Amino acid sequence: MKLSVQPVDLQLKHPFTIARGTRNTVPTVHLTLEHDGIVGYGEASPSNRYGESQDTVLSYLRNVDLSDFSDPFQIEDILHFVDRLAAGNAAAKASVDIALHDWVGKRLGIPLWKLFGLKKNVLSKSSFTIGIDSPEMIQQKIAEAEQYPILKIKLGVPNDREIVKTIRQHTDKILRVDANEGWKSKEEALDNICWLESYHIELIEQPMPAHAFEEIGWVRERVKIPIYADESVKRASDIPRLAGVFDGINIKLMKCSGIREAMKMIHTAKALGMNVMLGCMIESSVGIAAAAQLAPLVDCLDLDGNVLITNDPFQGIDMHGGYLSLNDDPGLGIHLRTA
Ligand code: MG
Repeated sequence: MKLSVQPVDLQLKHPFTIARGTRNTVPTVHLTLEHDGIVGYGEASPSNRYGESQDTVLSYLRNVDLSDFSDPFQIEDILHFVDRLAAGNAAAKASVDIALHDWVGKRLGIPLWKLFGLKKNVLSKSSFTIGIDSPEMIQQKIAEAEQYPILKIKLGVPNDREIVKTIRQHTDKILRVDANEGWKSKEEALDNICWLESYHIELIEQPMPAHAFEEIGWVRERVKIPIYADESVKRASDIPRLAGVFDGINIKLMKCSGIREAMKMIHTAKALGMNVMLGCMIESSVGIAAAAQLAPLVDCLDLDGNVLITNDPFQGIDMHGGYLSLNDDPGLGIHLRTA
């Protein structure tokens, strides 16, 4: 098995701002896994929230030596080996997981959703994310997001209420709110969520810092809008302690280490009576296609990373009218974009 890595800087259509900062480009790493004449694609979109960068991904992946494994079908053993090389590094690990799955699907000649026993014709509505911005830019972004039926808005800054009022002046679409840990006390979070209740909000993601379980549980007992964990949950082992604190969790391949772990998380959360959202970082179609294979298993989708960028090297997974559709091509169902 031959692994090759390439840094790829994804260009954002608009500067993207959340409670933690602003970005114009997103440095990622693309991975190819070659074996027996077949190439599997993977991608790592590192998060500085978790101490990752393009450099940490590259150095991690350069240390991955799969010479002890005979072929990519040994996904379970290979990922166990890769996971134990070092703690963290979830995005780098996810790129290996995704490439292995793509290779296996291509070798068998079937798409991953079929390999997983799922139905393709589940057309799922994905939300489209609107970052923190000026009222003028927010208005422009709402116009550009016309085809998307659900908007996810980023809050957690001093002018939250101005942002919400601006958005509600221009659209009556379903809104999801992501505060990205931006509300620092339980009283502030409660006050903001009670205020949001008259603005028809479907759910609120991560209102307070990741480890503020007691405070978030206190807030949840006093509000009607469902509360989802994002920064509070990385892998399956994090989920049991979240039951009773959150209504649902946001699973991201880049945060959890890939498709394999995401499946474990979906089943763990469901067993605990929690809802599941499948989300993403800013990613190309490689990462989005990998997550999309699991779409039939979850309650809501936030897989818009590839539509926020201008230089996606791949194509195959598209959103039409805000609906994400899977195709019949083998593996991830993506291929290099032709000029
Ligand atoms: Mg989030």
